Amino acid sequence: MAMRNILFDNDGTLYPAELEPALLEASLTSMAYYLSQRLKLSINEFYTERSRLFEKYGVKYTIHVFCREYNLPYSELVRYAYDYFEPAACGLQPNLALKELLGKLPFSMSVMTNNTAEFARKVLAVLGVEMQFEKIVGARELSFEQKPGLPAFEKALAITGYDPKKTLFVDNAPENLATAKQLGMKTILINGASVSCGDADFVIEDVCQIDKLFKEGVI
Ligand SMILES: [Mg+2]
Repeated sequence: MAMRNILFDNDGTLYPAELEPALLEASLTSMAYYLSQRLKLSINEFYTERSRLFEKYGVKYTIHVFCREYNLPYSELVRYAYDYFEPAACGLQPNLALKELLGKLPFSMSVMTNNTAEFARKVLAVLGVEMQFEKIVGARELSFEQKPGLPAFEKALAITGYDPKKTLFVDNAPENLATAKQLGMKTILINGASVSCGDADFVIEDVCQIDKLFKEGVI
């Protein structure tokens, strides 16, 4: 069946996996700075409180747990919590080849990430591809369900309106491909670590190699 849509993971998929730890760390530093000021905590107190709330609510979403605990509006916190996060300072660079590729693929494209959509938008803006996606589906949009869980995928499909049988799923985590496959999607593993994955229809080293699959007419 002809593919119509592509659902991309963000971290380690649309940018190199080796940059992921630094980007996550920098975004957490930004959240720590903003939230500690907002709640009048020291930075150390912020991290202690964060650990306590992760335990209390059983989820590891910083902004989400602080909102629940202090009854604060999520939309306000998420708007400011990334103010000090600069992906370019972590070594992330614009990716012109990716921009060109996404610009020419005749698919509807969206991003599905376990991280927040706001984090993803900042990263995608530096890559220069933010405008290429129809929807950025992040933690809040997924109701804090997470890949590889089925509910997260069902949410993402409902939000994007994508028919799984006409959708390519692109991710660097083999466990996420398993759920996508189960739902009938075609799967592409971005495989920097060269791991094998029985759920991958295609394995490529870099997201830009989708171009080759497209030219060969296999997707
Ligand atoms: Mg990933």
